[in-house]
Amino acid sequence: MANLSYQSTRGGEKGLTASMAILKGLAEDGGLYMPTEIPKLEVSLEQLAGMSYQETAYEVMRLFLTDYTEEELKYCINSAYDSKFDTKEIAPLREADGVSYLELFHGSTIAFKDMALSILPYLMTTAGKKNQVENEIVILTATSGDTGKAAMAGFADVPGTRIIVFYPKGGVSRVQELQMVTQKGDNTAVVAIHGNFDDAQTGVKKIFGDLEFGKRLGAKGFQLSSANSINIGRLVPQVAYYVYAYGKMIQNKKINCGDEINVAVPTGNFGNILAAYFAKQMGLPIKTLICASNDNKVLYDFFRTGVYDKKREFILTSSPSMDILISSNLERLIYLGADCDAQENKKRMEQLGETGYYTITEKMQQKMADFWGGYATEEENREEIKRLFDQTGYLIDTHTGVASGVYQKYVKETNDLTPTVIASTASPYKFSHSVMAAVLGNVDEKDEFASIDQMNKLSGVKIPRAVEEIRNAEIRHRRECDRDEMEAVVAEILGL
Ligand SMILES: *Cc1c(COP(=O)(O)O)cnc(C)c1O
Repeated sequence: MANLSYQSTRGGEKGLTASMAILKGLAEDGGLYMPTEIPKLEVSLEQLAGMSYQETAYEVMRLFLTDYTEEELKYCINSAYDSKFDTKEIAPLREADGVSYLELFHGSTIAFKDMALSILPYLMTTAGKKNQVENEIVILTATSGDTGKAAMAGFADVPGTRIIVFYPKGGVSRVQELQMVTQKGDNTAVVAIHGNFDDAQTGVKKIFGDLEFGKRLGAKGFQLSSANSINIGRLVPQVAYYVYAYGKMIQNKKINCGDEINVAVPTGNFGNILAAYFAKQMGLPIKTLICASNDNKVLYDFFRTGVYDKKREFILTSSPSMDILISSNLERLIYLGADCDAQENKKRMEQLGETGYYTITEKMQQKMADFWGGYATEEENREEIKRLFDQTGYLIDTHTGVASGVYQKYVKETNDLTPTVIASTASPYKFSHSVMAAVLGNVDEKDEFASIDQMNKLSGVKIPRAVEEIRNAEIRHRRECDRDEMEAVVAEILGL
């Protein structure tokens, strides 16, 4: 098999192996790593129907991570997708109201981030060995609520690594916050910043771009990496579950081999839906990628108009993991849309930083016609969660509610009845307050755990271990800082 190499979307770096790209996370020129081409699937669609999750993941990942040996990759896959997941299927499909919900929340932190973050630590420590890295790897991560916990669960007490997570104070759900501040492991640190997710993400990117700071770190035996979805080591594992879902759709006789499907994805940083796009480029018969936003509908506007404009009010919603105005991974689609012209891409990204917006050409817009952008307001989200529960007894979380609501709008507008997979990105238990409020009208429960118990009675779904664990857990992290203090806090945590 030919070796695939990786390069920065902004032209500053070329010729990296997959393991080097995973180790670095983000390119020094601020760009994201992209493979020089998107490989084609080498198994037939018939074969997919009979494959386990682990086998599917191997078939996808070996094509992207070509410098990992078969033994290394299988070790990573089998260590990640094991009994940490509460079902053998890892990502089961649930039918409700004629749609297939791909449940991506059966891992240790009950959100879809586990799908990639349970394998990233293995990919990264393996990459460290392959590249003779002696430094301690410091994972810096900005989180809109779910990445932080999932990354810490993966990296806690992994030798040779430290992890520091920044989350927006007041911008995550109570369960999300408790999951993070109770995190164990001597190598973990959690910091609440006085700002929103975009502030946290911008701050982290700034630290990566500060070459002086990088030297200070290097002198003390540290090097930075990222567990955010900008790391190619997160994107690649996510491609696998779309391929797996297609096989399951055949097996469940929802489609015939070769039939097209649509996918609907609740979107924030554009990582999950980009993975679906990669799956399509690999040859999976996906017709339309339905990109679902909440009230922060910058992507909806982008797909309709060709203008990406972040100059707008940041709205806190009941789907906090999608409260994002700068969707980092969109840069990869823009780069592909510009025929991999890194200079063109760089110009746009610099313009976004300087003026808050950029425009794409009509030709680029046509190349993105596979995407259909939609959004659901808070009220539409609540109505959809209630509608689905009342009609089918199936309870979905507030992020999946956005995707499900947008899918309903899509069908109304297009009459397209292609069999559809909706990415179900979190357990409803993670957002029990908002979900119960949607189903029951108003709840006056002040206590999140009262809502959790109420949900358990109503749905009959077992309360996940991840929730039971935090009920009485000790709070271990209390650090807070301002937006402009993030670098200083990192220095303090690492004892620079
Ligand atoms: C992170 C997250 C999303 C958004 O995914 P992106 O890859 O950032 O687009 C949606 N739902 C949940 C529950 C999440 O945690």
